[in-house]
Amino acid sequence: MSDSASTSLPPGEPRRIGPRVDQEDVSLGQAERRALRLLALHEVALAIGGQSDPSHTLELILMQACSLLRAPAGAVYLWEEERGVLRCALAHNTPERLREAAVPPGQGAAGIAFRDCKTVLINNYPSWSGASRLGLELGLAAVVSVPLRVGERLLGALEVHAYERGYAFDEEDAWLLELLGDQAATALEQARLVEQAERRAARLLALHRVSTAISAQANLGATLALILSQTCQLLKRRGGAIYLWDEGSGRLVLTEGHGLPVDQLEASVAPGEDIAGQTWLCRRPVVIDDYQRWPHATPSWKALGLHGVAGIPLIVAGRQLGALVIAAEADGPPFTPEEVQFLELVAGQAAVAIENARLFKAAARARAMDELNRLKSEFISTVSHELRTPLTYIQGYSELLQRRRLGSEAAREAIAEIHNASVRMARLVDDLLDLSRIEAGRLDLRPRELDLAELLKSAVRAARVQAPHLEIQLEIDELPTLVADPDRLRQIIDNLLNNAERYAATSRVIVRARRCDGGVRVDVSDEGPGISPEDQERIFEPFYRGKRSEVLPQRGGGLGLTIVRHLVEAHGGRVGLESAPGRGSTFWFTLPLRARR
Ligand code: ADP
Repeated sequence: MSDSASTSLPPGEPRRIGPRVDQEDVSLGQAERRALRLLALHEVALAIGGQSDPSHTLELILMQACSLLRAPAGAVYLWEEERGVLRCALAHNTPERLREAAVPPGQGAAGIAFRDCKTVLINNYPSWSGASRLGLELGLAAVVSVPLRVGERLLGALEVHAYERGYAFDEEDAWLLELLGDQAATALEQARLVEQAERRAARLLALHRVSTAISAQANLGATLALILSQTCQLLKRRGGAIYLWDEGSGRLVLTEGHGLPVDQLEASVAPGEDIAGQTWLCRRPVVIDDYQRWPHATPSWKALGLHGVAGIPLIVAGRQLGALVIAAEADGPPFTPEEVQFLELVAGQAAVAIENARLFKAAARARAMDELNRLKSEFISTVSHELRTPLTYIQGYSELLQRRRLGSEAAREAIAEIHNASVRMARLVDDLLDLSRIEAGRLDLRPRELDLAELLKSAVRAARVQAPHLEIQLEIDELPTLVADPDRLRQIIDNLLNNAERYAATSRVIVRARRCDGGVRVDVSDEGPGISPEDQERIFEPFYRGKRSEVLPQRGGGLGLTIVRHLVEAHGGRVGLESAPGRGSTFWFTLPLRARR
């Protein structure tokens, strides 16, 4: 037979309050039946209101549909997005095979009602051109199917069946089923919204627990383990792992795991390798539905029989720290965009925890370094003081012995050696004492008015006596009067001249002094071996000594330039160096007209 047996109520048309039946045609019996039906409908609505479990609500609606339409059987189909089919979610009195059915949209009465979003009423089912094989096999005689929809969203279909030959549903039946369908759809939507709200609340609670754990500054391992276990429990996923980037090896190291046999997995992966490595390269979530066929999969992860795997980068303040990996059960559903969004929030928290732990460690290290520095300064200061007194005696007595010219030539030479060594040692001890004062912030200047030209001349005179072989030139412009600490200023110049004498012995040394912007500038230039760029960077650091072979044989503690820099800066001046290997060196410093106090 043709489709004339079916009545399709087009979607989008205003809903009818009841079937179009002429007033005169309404017999008392019909009116009574309708009134009873409406009453039953009202009762259904009340019962639904009292239900909290959506499956009970659906069951109630289906039972009422069958009873009100006097249909012996019926079913509810729900749309399954992932599989693209209508699944029979509930059946009343239907044969077993129907309950297991998965109906594609457009197939059979339910399939058409769903696809076209319209009511489908079929009497004389066997002769209907759209009859499904299953429907025919089951011996369906008549069927009414209505779509379940909320707004624009289609949720499934509600259907009632008749198996008795010649049984026919009418339009009023279809209208009634539509009303029940609307109630079912509303109940389903409400259940979905409640479930969504509950899920969100549970996720927020999990995030809250994680942030509490982070702020409690528990150890990092425990925090990461908590993050993984909470996440897996909440999303009902099998397990997960956290990989952290290791700068030294250039690899991602498996740092924490949950629900996975971590000892069977690679301890680290390279960027691009497996899910962690791919996430690292992409810097965004990587979600794999079929891990077994994924080209970047590794054998150890494959052996776990995984399918759904998600990798989320751990990023804090734009810095990538590693990757969070979550694995679904082998038969678990794929990761939804909503889940991935949640995982990104979790990964954000994990990244903060990792960064916190790093900063905490760095702060503890800095505190330990400070303490170590303090102890070192204390040690240097104590030892230097203890050395200074006996050294003064050695220096004094060796000088006395030299003057008395006692003993043999050999003895005199030995005494001279002792004297020179004690002078060097005394200088080193003085430098150490100065350094400890500088580090303790106890270096006090005693500035007064002075004549820089005189001071330079005196220093050069002394250097010429000390190193008669050295050719020292002095070029002094007209200079203003300075306010500076004369002893410290002399120490600065002596140190620079002493270096020139030691490191550029055979060359000419020029000492220049001139006015400069805001004060004076003094240059001490030599034509010695010069200083490599690598050494230049570190030469003013405490205890740093040059690496060049011609410098190494010279004795020194690597403190002279450190002290020069501190003394110049304490005056409010600046210090610098221009040099190139083989081209000599010029050390310069500036001083303001008045030293800072
Ligand atoms: P020290 O002379 O005890 O090593 P300094 O702080 O005075 O300590 O100097 C640090 C390093 O700078 C020296 O070890 C040397 O390598 C380099 N240096 C200093 N002055 C000169 C110079 N005039 N020519 C070449 N190298 C120099």
